[in-house]
Amino acid sequence: VSIWSKVPQGPPVSSPIGARTRSLPIAVLTRSIAGCITEAFKADSNPKKINLGALLSLSPTLPYHVPSSPHPGGPKNAQLTPSSPGVGAYRDDAGKPYVLPSVREAERRVIDDKMNKEYAGITGVPEFPQAAAKLAYGNDSPALGRIAATQTISGTGALRLGAEFLQRWHAGEKKIRIPTPSWANHKAIFQDARLEVEQYRYYNKDTIGLDFDGMVQDLKSAPEGSVFLFHACAHNPTGVDPTPEQWKEISQICLQKKHLPFFDMAYQGFASGDSDRDAFAVRQFIRDGHKILLSQSFAKNMGLYGERAGAFSIVGEDAEEVKRIDSQLKIIIRPMYSNPPIHGARIAATILNDPKLYTQWQAEVKGMADRIITMRKLLREKLEGLGSKHDWSHITSQIGMFAYTGLKPDEVEKVTKDYSVYFTKDGRISVSGITSDNVGHLAEAIYKVKG
Ligand code: PLP
Repeated sequence: VSIWSKVPQGPPVSSPIGARTRSLPIAVLTRSIAGCITEAFKADSNPKKINLGALLSLSPTLPYHVPSSPHPGGPKNAQLTPSSPGVGAYRDDAGKPYVLPSVREAERRVIDDKMNKEYAGITGVPEFPQAAAKLAYGNDSPALGRIAATQTISGTGALRLGAEFLQRWHAGEKKIRIPTPSWANHKAIFQDARLEVEQYRYYNKDTIGLDFDGMVQDLKSAPEGSVFLFHACAHNPTGVDPTPEQWKEISQICLQKKHLPFFDMAYQGFASGDSDRDAFAVRQFIRDGHKILLSQSFAKNMGLYGERAGAFSIVGEDAEEVKRIDSQLKIIIRPMYSNPPIHGARIAATILNDPKLYTQWQAEVKGMADRIITMRKLLREKLEGLGSKHDWSHITSQIGMFAYTGLKPDEVEKVTKDYSVYFTKDGRISVSGITSDNVGHLAEAIYKVKG
């Protein structure tokens, strides 16, 4: 029996007036890449200062403070910790925000087409959701034809929609298990959908690597049919991913335990530079017969941060089930935000649906990933070159935007105080803030403090 067999076909939900089933002419160019420089960083007059951190841990006063959940039925005393959306943004080797040339080209086409600004349908720009799904699941995925997919307000909106769907239609516990640690927003997103959040073991502080045994134990000891959130690639914040072999094992355990996997894929292509390789876990689970939930973001891999282009999908049993799931997704979306923004999704759809532009985009994603990988290598080389006796192999084995250095809070404090290098107390640095120019100073600062 399919887990979604009890999801009923809902009544039709009418689209906002004027919604189109096909994209029509439009144009607008918005740029909103938040430059998030902390107060402390801003106030520092050292010309060599480097910001590799997150707004929150450094800012002495938060931009706002919410003492308890705004939802009457929500979690008590939930400390909402607003983190700057600009924190995890890619920077080029000059430390500047980067707009991909393929995105500029797609945007030019969208503008030249003189499309109007009519509403999209509830599930977004028509050409977008299935194209996004194909990117994740693969062009020849056995799941094609039974994927309920919708555009969402980037990855965050996809997770929130998935959370709401689980709250309504997951027959088992209203609970989700997320890794320790996880992206700071995960807990808040799921709790806001009134799901209980439990954590499973993931990161081993001592090895600065994956606690695979702990993770396996937690997968095995969770009750049958539990919902598990996995970072599909480039785990945030640790940069530590399971190997393909480990993913296979995780998938098998999930099958045995009938767990429901929810993949958060915020960095496809951005992790290794290869979109197919980064989709390994998702595709392995599909090959193994799982019916997954998936959130996708085009914030990082297309640099569309402020455009809020994302997708959510659920793999169903067959086309009939997908129809029912689809209807329930619409029922959730319509009163929540009615329909998603169009501009970013049009850009993304233009890239995904044009083979030439797609190839260009893939090369540009690889360029971003390669720069990150190169900075990791450089940092490690420089630390070793300075004579550091520590094992820095984790710097290059971790993947994606963030790196856990393994520095203790007092060491981080000293690096900041003495060398004007800013990052979070847990020792996490944003690798995209490293450039050819500042990597030397960074290595020296870490070496002088850590040895
Ligand atoms: N999931 C993870 C793990 C992330 O790191 C992020 C962004 O940093 C997101 C989801 C969602 O990002 P967005 O809502 O900008 O697509």
